[in-house]
Amino acid sequence: MKTIGIIGGMSAASTQIYYRELCNGTRERLGGLNSPELLIRSLNFAEIEALQVAGEWSQAGEILNREAKALERGGADFIILATNTMHKLAEQMMQGVSIPMLHIADATAASIQQKGLCSPGLMATAFTMEQSFYTERIAAADLKLIIPEAPDRAETHRIIYDELCRDIVTKESEAAYIAIAQRLVERGADCLILGCTEVGMLLNQSNVSVPVFDTTLVHCDVALTLALEE
Ligand code: GLU
Repeated sequence: MKTIGIIGGMSAASTQIYYRELCNGTRERLGGLNSPELLIRSLNFAEIEALQVAGEWSQAGEILNREAKALERGGADFIILATNTMHKLAEQMMQGVSIPMLHIADATAASIQQKGLCSPGLMATAFTMEQSFYTERIAAADLKLIIPEAPDRAETHRIIYDELCRDIVTKESEAAYIAIAQRLVERGADCLILGCTEVGMLLNQSNVSVPVFDTTLVHCDVALTLALEE
């Protein structure tokens, strides 16, 4: 079994989901007392979020690069970065690192293509929805992304940082997310990318009318397949 290096804590709420999913998935695939070999580096999200807001991305990239190198030294066979947004810095993070990284957008795009779908809606942070580092990656897989209108983008982003990243889940925000997802479907989305690792705390296949691709779950699934292959 390969050792998965996880750079997480962004936020801690979703890194817990990664840990749970990787443990459950390993038990389901191998049975018995099997559990995954993991190295989890959980960062202080307050520091990372302050750098995001200040636009100090390269400083955040230096932190990620330092942590990726530490995971490699610690014995990780490959790395997963447990946040969509911070994939903006994937290239800088992997400079001088020789183990591979499993990109969350590539894993998600491949999973959508496998199902024969072509027009995903995207709910994520404003950084992920509005900047090209993520949307271009999805478009490169021949998928036509549908992004929420500005007020829905602002509300999606606010709920992520004010609530989900603080482990707060409310009925009001669930209803707001369901309505935003529905507006994407009405504009032609044939599936929905939960493009932030916390969005699955509010949305899932039971409250969205089109196929849901939860990036956290897709990422864990692909990571486990790689970790457990011969
Ligand atoms: N976990 C989130 C994501 O998947 C947002 C937190 C962050 O900015 O890293 O984008």
